[in-house]
Amino acid sequence: MTPSAKPARPEQPRPACTPLAGGQYQPAQAEAQAAGAIERRVTRQTGAFSKLVRSDDAAIVFKDEEGTGADRLMAPRLREKLSALAVLVAEEWPGVKLRVTEAWDENGEHADQSLHYEGRAADLTTSDRDATKLGCLAGLAVRAGFDWVFREGTHVHASVKR
Ligand SMILES: [Zn+2]
Repeated sequence: MTPSAKPARPEQPRPACTPLAGGQYQPAQAEAQAAGAIERRVTRQTGAFSKLVRSDDAAIVFKDEEGTGADRLMAPRLREKLSALAVLVAEEWPGVKLRVTEAWDENGEHADQSLHYEGRAADLTTSDRDATKLGCLAGLAVRAGFDWVFREGTHVHASVKR
């Protein structure tokens, strides 16, 4: 190799995600159209509560700020998509996990028609809480098959059909 020759550079991996910009959602339609409007809130007293499933996926970090385990409870389709996304996150950022800050909400902390009340929406970050990863995380959520993905300011909101 002559002194002027450039050293061989390692191959740059192609970014695996197509990032969503802040405030962007995909598909470009209202959540109620893409994922279906809420029918009724699920509470521990309603029959629909028994249809919620629990995620014990070790590849996912659950914030569980309520200390009730409610963040682990969700509709079956949401659990399926979260596990698919957790795989993509681990591939994209080795050592980093998918983090769920909210899934089913039994405390009325979201907007009136929120799909969180049916366990069909999750709020997401990465385990390192690196805000610069949110755009890519949203892109990965689209790839994981969520029916509607919204990159909000501090997290990614992703929801599924019934
Ligand atoms: Zn949300």
